[in-house]
Amino acid sequence: MTLAIIGGTVVTAGGTLDADVFVAGEKIVAVIAREINTPDFGRADETIDATGKYVIPGGIDAHTHMEMPFGGTSSVDTFETGTKAAAWGGTTTIIDFAVQAKGTGLLATLDKWHEKADGNCAIDYGFHMIVSDVNEATLKEMDACIGAGVTSFKMFMAYPGVFYATDGEILLAMQQAQRSGATIMMHAENGIAIDQLVAQALGAGRTDPVYHGLTRPPELEGEATGRAITLAKVAGCPLYIVHLSAAQALEAVAEARDTGQNVFAETCPQYLYLSLEDLARPDFEGAKFVCSPPLRTKDHSATLWRGLRTNDLSVVSTDHCPFCFKEQKELGRGDFAKIPNGIPGVEHRIDLLHQGVVAGEITLARWVEVCATTPARMFGLYPRKGAIVAGADADIVIYDPTARQTLSVATHHMNVDYSAYEGMEITGKVATTISRGRVVVADGEFKGARGEGTFLPRTLNQYLV
Ligand SMILES: [Zn+2]
Repeated sequence: MTLAIIGGTVVTAGGTLDADVFVAGEKIVAVIAREINTPDFGRADETIDATGKYVIPGGIDAHTHMEMPFGGTSSVDTFETGTKAAAWGGTTTIIDFAVQAKGTGLLATLDKWHEKADGNCAIDYGFHMIVSDVNEATLKEMDACIGAGVTSFKMFMAYPGVFYATDGEILLAMQQAQRSGATIMMHAENGIAIDQLVAQALGAGRTDPVYHGLTRPPELEGEATGRAITLAKVAGCPLYIVHLSAAQALEAVAEARDTGQNVFAETCPQYLYLSLEDLARPDFEGAKFVCSPPLRTKDHSATLWRGLRTNDLSVVSTDHCPFCFKEQKELGRGDFAKIPNGIPGVEHRIDLLHQGVVAGEITLARWVEVCATTPARMFGLYPRKGAIVAGADADIVIYDPTARQTLSVATHHMNVDYSAYEGMEITGKVATTISRGRVVVADGEFKGARGEGTFLPRTLNQYLV
């Protein structure tokens, strides 16, 4: 099976090129600049005319939670529905989180997540490992996980009693990561202090969703981020701050990077586009916007866009963790602390960041870099993923930069009963999504299938020397 994508503008992290892209089987075999040569590839089995459109590497969403247990319920996108929605939005790889339960080993956890995902994904997928039970066996199994293609480990300074790890436990895991070269990912919020603020608010009868935001002040994200950076420095391991939302945290990351420490950070579209005002929507609607860290005041968003330009923020992931408003978010009526944490977004990341190009916040090349190329390098998938080059997997998105669309629960494909971006108008839309040479979305139709995605064993962080 050969495929020719002709007439488009290839956009990579390196810039733009008027070029045709040729695919054989699952791989890109040639990228040919049109001004130099236009060979006759009329023999391709299929030709797609991409005139007037961008041809970009398929998106890599390095932070998703499909079918994740949380607070007695579970995120509603399965690996099937979530990966299909991702493909609709131009994402061809997800890296999801396997979650260690206390008392369970890491490899047993990984098996459990393979059972959930294998044979069910419509696009390729990998795993990070959430470490919530630090002991000698866990530390040893971290190395075995690397052998199984899981090279990054997430820990929590938040959620005491659930995922929370003490500074000592974090240090031990970081030392293990230093020895193996693995990356430690950190949810950096001071959960011990936050729990006190939450108890005080509830004690004073402040139960509305907005207090989820007000009891998790940005200072406590900044403090935890700085502490994680210090612990990583002492241990000598690479550190990746997930879902950075606050200017104070960005400042800590930028300072560490300036000293040459291997510290990286991602942000998410919700922190770029939504704010505390959404959390304060009346009639419990704010519950739709409960995630942690919480949405911040609008001034933080401007700082985050700047961080994306300066590369102190290297990646945009979604932290896709959908809970329905009915019956799930509603568990927290009368007690904001019981609202399941998470916002759906896996389908909209490429569009929302393209909107940043339209608004002049980032360049086209940077759009591709933060959505595909850097996540591929950060998590050991490059150049198989994240690149339009000969030899790469043919994960390609043909993007129409002039199409208009309105985001809505009525049209999205995520398995959740609301959109966090309801009514938002976007310039740009995915025309075609190709996953390892197979067209999975085209002409407004889903043409892929459950089970066509394969597990991606990953190497170590490729930014490390
Ligand atoms: Zn998350």
